[in-house]
Amino acid sequence: MSTVEYRPWSNWAHTESANPQIAEPTTVDELRNYVANAAAHGRRIKPIGAGHSFSGIGVPADIQLRLHHLRGVVASDVEAGRVTLAAGTHLHEIPALLAPLGLAMANLGDVDRQTISGATSTGTHGTGARFGGISTQIVGARIVDGRGELVAVGEQDPDLKAVALALGALGVLADITLQCVPAFRLEAVEAPGKLDDVLAGWAESVAAVDHYEFYWFPHTDCCLTKTNTRLPASTPSSGPSRIRRYIDDELLSNKLFGVLCGIGRAVPATVPAINQLSGRALSARTIVDSSTDVFVSSRAVRFREMEYAIPVDQIPDALREIAAMIERRRYRVSFPVEVRAAAADDLLLSTAAGRESGYIAVHRYFKDDAADSAAYFADVEAIMTARGGRPHWGKMHTRDADYLRSVYPRFDDFRAVRERFDPGRVFANDYLARVLGD
Ligand SMILES: Cc1cc2nc3c(=O)[nH]c(=O)nc-3n(C[C@H](O)[C@H](O)[C@H](O)COP(=O)(O)OP(=O)(O)OC[C@H]3O[C@@H](n4cnc5c(N)ncnc54)[C@H](O)[C@@H]3O)c2cc1C
Repeated sequence: MSTVEYRPWSNWAHTESANPQIAEPTTVDELRNYVANAAAHGRRIKPIGAGHSFSGIGVPADIQLRLHHLRGVVASDVEAGRVTLAAGTHLHEIPALLAPLGLAMANLGDVDRQTISGATSTGTHGTGARFGGISTQIVGARIVDGRGELVAVGEQDPDLKAVALALGALGVLADITLQCVPAFRLEAVEAPGKLDDVLAGWAESVAAVDHYEFYWFPHTDCCLTKTNTRLPASTPSSGPSRIRRYIDDELLSNKLFGVLCGIGRAVPATVPAINQLSGRALSARTIVDSSTDVFVSSRAVRFREMEYAIPVDQIPDALREIAAMIERRRYRVSFPVEVRAAAADDLLLSTAAGRESGYIAVHRYFKDDAADSAAYFADVEAIMTARGGRPHWGKMHTRDADYLRSVYPRFDDFRAVRERFDPGRVFANDYLARVLGD
């Protein structure tokens, strides 16, 4: 058990940083000891995953726990499709762990750099009106509570509804059991569309397609729609060659896009013309590949992001309001706005708790003027909160406990679970104090 003094840390988006004391447990027993010691000495301790949260949710107040020694499969039950993963396992490691078992995760977000614990602690989600976020795939977990006790939370335990999406407020997850599905392939159809048509067809597309999403290019009427359909694992791969996909996804979507963001940052007046050019250059393509390869993309251009969930049928009106606001307030936004959907679930703090949800995510290039980006996010936030919006816990937002109580019917149930798991607030930080109210 070793503790290294004060190593600097910052998150992926460079919106948060700290200089914490570092603890790197190599076993679950060591993990328990670190937490028990912190509790005994009145110190605070905070696990970190891949640092891919934009919000201050993972900022350590005191000691930072890095769980890179706790990775891989802890147990599996292939017949039941259940796999227990150590808490520090990264999403990008999971396909190779599940493939020999013939299994896959049912749904994923846009990238796979996160850890399973970090992703589920903030409610990371993908898209699909019949599919929940990653936390809804959790059927059990073991968590070290604020006294340093290892608590097993099973499928029938009501606490799982809190533990599966806990903001890091209840304890340190030691491992997570996922309900997986048989491996499958996805047919991805990408196509350019016009904003009015895409919004008019939103309800139908979301209902008809397994995983539907679209990107809208601000200052234009151009969209890129993505329609992903689940297919049996035996379906052969097809579509553009690996080289063509590399050119489209890495060189055009990442490298060239990065250059254009830099130009837009230096001369904001060029952004609408750049977006028009990008929007007109969109072309259709169809790919069949493994589910992970289709769900996940690489994001090489850094950005800041805010995302809100609202009732799914309110997406078209909310997006029209955002489009009008961007022009009225004369923002220059180089990043496409991403729009997704998810099924209702019953996790206490899920952004989709109790309602079918649509998500609007807005981004700004990380070098864009910080005050201008914050003003843009505040204007989007006003539109989304007027619709009872719930902010993504890992993305930028300014909501506090009073507001969050008004949009989460079981907010105080979560606080009661926290009282039992972490009465001494060993896992507290400023973000949790703001959003949970103490
Ligand atoms: C490029 C990019 C793309 C993204 N795409 C999506 C997307 O498609 N969909 C989406 O919903 N979100 C997306 N996000 C947001 C991201 O998925 C979340 O912020 C996620 O929490 C990051 O995972 P992480 O491992 O980096 O967690 P971190 O940011 O490191 O930590 C997040 C929280 O988890 C807690 N935590 C970490 N480990 C443990 C543990 N063992 N026990 C208890 N708590 C723990 C931390 O304390 C912290 O509170 C994206 C972010 C980026 C930067």
